[in-house]
Amino acid sequence: MFESFYNGRILIVDLAKGTTQEESLDEEMIKQYLGGAALNTALFEKNADSDPIIIGCGPLTASFAPGSCLGVMTARSPLSRQLVHVPLTWQTAVETKLSGFDFLVFLGKAPEPVHLWLHDELADIKPSSGINEKDAWEITDFLREEYGDESIQVLGVGPAGTKGSSASRVSENYWGSKDKFALGAVWGEKGLKAIASRGLGFFTQPDEVFPKAMELKDLLLAGKIKGKGGLLEMLDSLGANGKAKGILEKFSHRRNACFNCPYACNEFLMMEEEPASRKRSDKEEPGLQINNVSDLLALSPFGEDSLELLRKALKLGLDPTFCGLIIKKKGLDAPGAIKELDRLAREGGELGKEDLPNFSGVSPWPEEVKMESFLVQALGVFSNAVPPRPVIASYEDFSISEDPVERAQWWMKRQGIAYVLGLCPQLALISPELKGEDMVELLKAGNGWGELSVGKLEEIVKNMIVSSLKSKEGEEDINQSLKPEGFDESLVKLKEKFA
Ligand code: SF4
Repeated sequence: MFESFYNGRILIVDLAKGTTQEESLDEEMIKQYLGGAALNTALFEKNADSDPIIIGCGPLTASFAPGSCLGVMTARSPLSRQLVHVPLTWQTAVETKLSGFDFLVFLGKAPEPVHLWLHDELADIKPSSGINEKDAWEITDFLREEYGDESIQVLGVGPAGTKGSSASRVSENYWGSKDKFALGAVWGEKGLKAIASRGLGFFTQPDEVFPKAMELKDLLLAGKIKGKGGLLEMLDSLGANGKAKGILEKFSHRRNACFNCPYACNEFLMMEEEPASRKRSDKEEPGLQINNVSDLLALSPFGEDSLELLRKALKLGLDPTFCGLIIKKKGLDAPGAIKELDRLAREGGELGKEDLPNFSGVSPWPEEVKMESFLVQALGVFSNAVPPRPVIASYEDFSISEDPVERAQWWMKRQGIAYVLGLCPQLALISPELKGEDMVELLKAGNGWGELSVGKLEEIVKNMIVSSLKSKEGEEDINQSLKPEGFDESLVKLKEKFA
């Protein structure tokens, strides 16, 4: 019944024993949790004794639906001590799903670092001796060469994750990720260095799915994103600082979209050649791709030097937002900041101890924002590498009132739906035309699941958020600078919505 959206396979990787085992993804599980962050949460709870890492796809991941690139990584953050969900965009989760696996569950700790190679419905655990000391760029190159395919997608941790730094993050190929919760350190602690996947599979879908998905894509293209693209438009709509915009205007070379996305927001900046040149560069490292508007905003106060800093952070597997706060506090110049990135990769740091803005150790969205955005970041369930408010579109476009609690509740639900279905959570904030009803229709057309409804989808999302919030160990600790007047009362009201 669900084979048009899932392979039906969960891979259990026992890192301590060095073994893999397959479990079937049965219909009852899908009916109860649908997929993505909700099924990840159920798998996390089932294996809670091993403090697992779960990587999962939604039913729409790798489908014809617009923005269907999303995979979700779920684990307990070493910063906030809470179950968190990180969106994997670009092509990494698509490749995992097409290699034959819908969900990956990592248990225990490897005695020696390992990596996982997924291909053709096969999973091999391999020693990582060749890549332990390598940075995120070298790991990607190494694994693509090792397995002989330039299209291999790599999730990996650079030196920061290997050393357990609190400023680390998991990287998707060369260009960082939307991990703001230091899950790179969790990988490092478990001895998981990388996952390489290459998928040549496909899902046969009923005839009505493709035209419905194309209709939806056309609707989006004719909506708020009509004639728009790239990071510059996003920065404009967010009212972002002039330095970040100046960098884009000067260095932007081309835009790339994640799998099946109608809004190309990944921007390649050319550093070593003329940005306007259309010739293929023969330089080894001609520039860098920014997949994440918060990365650019965090380091843009350094002007053009920020690109060198970003390149360094990407290689080391560091979260630029976390690093940007520490660097700013220390008042370092560009050479000093480069050295500081090396130190942060080795030793990490604590934003709280430095009296820097943080939500239970997690760095905030790097621009000044309003109450509603602080509220969603305080809950800390979803990544704030995705803007904590609408972008390109406005709250009005989504018919949301000015009440901060209502706005925050809306953001949480909107993100939750994207994280469960396997759609980009950023596109969900850009395109008000993307509606739950259409997604449900698409799923029904694909699998004939008559009883699925928007109400059921929202219930699944709410349960996932409730479970994630309940998982918190220790007290919430929010820096005073992130608490505007009335914040505590509003946070209580928001939490009541997810109790
Ligand atoms: S909106 Fe940006 S991050 Fe999201 S799928 Fe599209 S290109 Fe990727």
